Order: sequence, then C-alpha cells, then structure tokens
Amino acid sequence: TIKTTDGIISQTEQYGANNYHPLPIVISEAEGVWVKDPEGNEYLDMLSAYSALNQGHRHPKIIQALKDQADRVTLTSRAFHNDILGRLTERIAKLTGKDKVLPMNTGVEAVETAIKAARRWAYEVKGVQDNQAEIIAARGNFHGRSINSISLSNDETATKNFGPFVPGIIKVAFGEVEAIRKAITPNTAAIIVEPIQGEAGIIIPPEGYLREIRKICDENNVLFIADEVQTGLARTGKMFACEWEGVEPDIYVMGKALGGGVMPVSAIAANKEIMDVFTPGSHGSTFGGNPLACAVSIASIDVIEEEDLVTNSLRLGKYFAEELRKIDNLDLVEVRARGLFIGVEFNHPVRGFCETLKEEGILCKETHENTIRFAPPLIITKENLDWALERIHNVLSK
Ligand code: PLP
Repeated sequence: TIKTTDGIISQTEQYGANNYHPLPIVISEAEGVWVKDPEGNEYLDMLSAYSALNQGHRHPKIIQALKDQADRVTLTSRAFHNDILGRLTERIAKLTGKDKVLPMNTGVEAVETAIKAARRWAYEVKGVQDNQAEIIAARGNFHGRSINSISLSNDETATKNFGPFVPGIIKVAFGEVEAIRKAITPNTAAIIVEPIQGEAGIIIPPEGYLREIRKICDENNVLFIADEVQTGLARTGKMFACEWEGVEPDIYVMGKALGGGVMPVSAIAANKEIMDVFTPGSHGSTFGGNPLACAVSIASIDVIEEEDLVTNSLRLGKYFAEELRKIDNLDLVEVRARGLFIGVEFNHPVRGFCETLKEEGILCKETHENTIRFAPPLIITKENLDWALERIHNVLSK
C-alpha cells in the first residue's frame, strides 16, 4: 500500500474520475475538529465536509451507536419493518414539527423526493392538469448533481452538455420577491429555495424574503420547499435557517449532518396532506431508512441537542465573524455570516489563500472562486477559533 501524501494523490488521480479539484492534502485520521495527514501533520477542519460534520469527526456517541447497531442488524430493506425506523421518523417529525418523514440517503435524493411530492400534490390535491406542474427555483442555487437537481441550476459548470433537462422549471433571481410573484401561474406546484445559499458563497437573502415566500405560497396554494441540507441542524445558529425569519416551510429537506458525518442519511418532513400522496411503490430506496443509518441519525440528533450546538454556533459564529471583519485587506469585499456559516468574499480568486492556510494548519475551501467558506464543526471551542484567527489574520491581511 502507498503511504505518502504524494503517492496517494497520484494513485487517486490515476484511477479516479476527475470530477473534483481537492486541495493537495490527504486525510488519514480524524477526531473532533482535528484531522491528520499520513505524515502526521495536524490540521483544524474548518469545512466539516460541507456541514456534514456539525457534530465533529467520529463523535464517540455516534460511533457507539454505529457499533451497537452493527452488532444487531444493519439492513432490512423496506420489504420488511425494522425496529428503529419508527424511532427516527418520530424524532425528525418532532424536531421539524411536521406529521411525517420520508428517509433517503443523500441530499440530492431528498431534493428529488421533495420535488416528486410537490408534483403529485399539485395533481392530486391542488388539481393541476396532467404533466403541467411547474417548480420555481432560485438562480445561484445548489440542490445536488442529479439530472433533476441540475435542471434547477443555472451554473454552467454543473450543467454543460448534460441536457436535455427536466421541463417545468422556472428560474428567478434569488432574494427578489417580485420575481417570484411574476413567475407564479395556476400550475405552480412549489418554490424551492435554500434559506441561505451555501455553495453560491453563503448568500443571505434580504430580510423578509422567506416571510414573503411563505405569504406568496399561502396566497397562491403553492408549496414552500426549504432545502436545509446544508443550512439545517444548527449550522446557522438556529436548528433550521428558516427560523431566522420565523418561517415554517411546507417541506423540509435535510441531509448532511443528519448522518453525523458517519453515514449518508437524508429525509424530507411534511404534513399529511403532502406526504400522503406517496403510496406503496411510488417512491423509495433500498438503503433509505436502514437500521444502521437510523441508529446513527438518532445519535446525531441527540448530540446536536444535548451539546446545544445551536447556541454554540450562534455565539461563536458571531465572535468569529466579528474578528474576521477586522482583517486588514483592501481586497476583502464582505464577511457574510449566520452562526458558524461564514463566507469571506474577496475581489479576486482565493484558491491561493486556501492553499496557504492549509500550510498553516487550517483546512477550508473556496466556493465560487472569490469566497472562502468557514464552516467548522459546531463542537468547536473559542480556543480553537482563536488559534485559527491568528493564522487566518496572518494569511489574509495585506
Ligand atoms: N442541497 C444543498 C443545499 C446542498 O448544499 C447539497 C450538497 O452540498 C445538496 C443538496 C446535495 O447533497 P448530496 O451531496 O448529499 O447529494
């Protein structure tokens, strides 16, 4: 076996498809907020696998749940019941305040599930004519990589030469309420938005945007789908980012941290009138709701609540963002932050900064060229952040 960083990277590049552009670091061990490379160098993880590691790496409680469940039963498929799925769905239903939950695995599958629910709801509940349902999406979004999700996207890198795309999608500018009003027709089934656009560079919509969407949806009998795959589960200093405007969507889409960085677990939550459009055979997944994932997910939600990661994210996010705003660099455009979900935008590409920060022991990644995203595990301490801030200031100041 190859054991050096360079050797492992060339092996990975030789045999793997070229669909990512990772920083030149290999992670071979991890615990909490820290990761190690094969040479034994330590780094502070300030990306958390795009917020899938809100609970930190290998949280002992989640790993214990994984091991205990692995000793009992791991997979049943949904051809049979298992003795833990009910516990997970009840847990997520109570967390979201919704009647019912449908578990899947990855974020993109949960998005797919939400869109399918909305389309069926449009035909069977709202009364839209066959095959006429429309979905409104916001430009700049990221909802995953399936044909459906990239059909919602207007990102050239993600969509080029993958057509033809799914019809019935109308794209409007993110953050603009009037654009939504104009796009609504009697055939509109749903509006899907990220409450804060993550991959776009931590783009926070103008105050009132989510409340207005709620209002427009109510007035027009349209479903509000909140893609909280990245923003949900304490990341932004609220359990769900929609809470920043006191808004309840009709469908929550969750993923990432729902599996505690251990297993892929995703889900949608909605009330009966919507979820009941699914009938046996109309949707599903071999692995969705498997016992191992359920055990991991229950423990992952426990950790978020027991360790009050919402408060930690809110408090430390505020502190961290304020300190980042003190960076002395005329090329710094803006620091955008909600909890520990932070984008630092420059007026030039930031890949070089990320590479230098890596040399200083800090792992983060550019998003859309000019923005550095800082989204550390939510178990991070002020001491960890102070350690990071010293290095970040050195690298980013001019
Ligand atoms: N939706 C949002 C808002 C995301 O940020 C992501 C992933 O980054 C996805 C969906 C897709 O999730 P997955 O990569 O697990 O399919």
